[in-house]
Amino acid sequence: MFHKILIANRGEIALRILRACREMDIQVVAVHSSADSDAMHVRLADESVCIGPPPARDSYLNMQAILSAADVCGVDAIHPGVGFLSENAAFAEMVEEHGMTFIGPTPEHLRLMGDKITAKETALELGIPVVPGSDGALDPLGDVESLAQRLGYPVLIKAAAGGGGKGMRVALTAAGLEDALNFARTEARSCFGNDQVYMEKYLARPRHIEIQVIADTHGNAVHLGERDCSLQRNHQKVWEEAPSPAISAEARAKLGETVVRAIKKLGYHGVGTIEFLYEDGEFYFIEMNTRLQVEHPITEMITGIDLVREQIRVAAGLPLSFRQEDIQFKGHAIECRVNAECSETFMPSPGKIQDYLAPGGYGVRVDSPVYQGYQIPPYYDSLIAKLIVYGDNREECLQRLRRALQEYVITGINTLLPLHRNLSEETSVIMGEYDIHWLEKWLSLKIQEEAA
Ligand code: ADP
Repeated sequence: MFHKILIANRGEIALRILRACREMDIQVVAVHSSADSDAMHVRLADESVCIGPPPARDSYLNMQAILSAADVCGVDAIHPGVGFLSENAAFAEMVEEHGMTFIGPTPEHLRLMGDKITAKETALELGIPVVPGSDGALDPLGDVESLAQRLGYPVLIKAAAGGGGKGMRVALTAAGLEDALNFARTEARSCFGNDQVYMEKYLARPRHIEIQVIADTHGNAVHLGERDCSLQRNHQKVWEEAPSPAISAEARAKLGETVVRAIKKLGYHGVGTIEFLYEDGEFYFIEMNTRLQVEHPITEMITGIDLVREQIRVAAGLPLSFRQEDIQFKGHAIECRVNAECSETFMPSPGKIQDYLAPGGYGVRVDSPVYQGYQIPPYYDSLIAKLIVYGDNREECLQRLRRALQEYVITGINTLLPLHRNLSEETSVIMGEYDIHWLEKWLSLKIQEEAA
């Protein structure tokens, strides 16, 4: 097992990883920007190294600085967390070249799945159905319009290198196609330095269903069921639950088996998430994330498996500590993303937290590095806490969630807590009847009601 791990990340995920390391008797090196000297993961780490000024490109994305810190501190492995360098194949290669372990899949798998076009091609080869769309990247001089006609409007233009909902634009009709193409290409170029785009049919009322997998280096792979992440805004997840209120045990087992077969064939190891859109009883692959997901705790709550611990174990070359038949799905879990944003305008709200009182009690878990007096820096993702609630069944889980949301106090900044309180009381949410477009429609109805 590793002796010392460097966590190349910040915020709640850095703290989550640190906690797993502590419980495994592994020493932790925190790296941080000069804006994060007071961060919880820095305070709790055994050692910490400031790797640069606040902008992420100069600190959390500064590979040389991170590798130097790792060398100086003598770490065996680097955990990249989520976002930042977690899916960067070049970084993974550099870590290995420095004689350390990258806690994640191989650079080849990162590359294969990091490009959504090759990921879709691979999924098809592995027998996984994909969303109907273009064969590979769109040729800027090709006949894009007749392809869109064939698929049927609306269509979605997506960036091959996309992530975080960026580089994606819908064309409702032929008249909007060129604008959508230009928008997606421009955003893809500026966000990812790669303007390759592809086209997909824009599904009208799908749910976002993703399957968690984990595989070791000994050829064992298992799935840990699905998460339903359909409550989204701007293609970004806001509220997630496991299991999905819309999936039967048979559908779960069938999709899980297909995915595990594919993962084994691929020779993949580490944690991973295969994302699907689910409509009219059919699953369509959209992408694979080759890292831990923000919403992994809900899977932990219903399986009783510490995913980060297991991820570290398989990275150290140990075999999985369970088989598929050992995994029992029990109860229901919901995660609310508590972002430092206004619940109405979604404007980021950095600043100082005046009062902070997190909820607790049976079945309530808060993954958060913030505290009273903490100053939220304006430079990074606005996620400041995840409220994760478990119940024996969905009804109990929702009841407990409403109770926890009532207890939760954060003042001095705006957060999404009021939005989550409203959602937890909303009939469609209570009934589990929502698709990926539901939240945005509901938000625009609210605005209209307030204006009237
Ligand atoms: P990213 O990597 O940027 O997160 P994804 O491909 O995972 O992009 O898609 C993010 C979200 O965008 C999905 O969860 C879904 O809500 C929406 N989306 C993606 N593809 C489609 C599609 N073909 N039709 C409708 N919605 C889609």
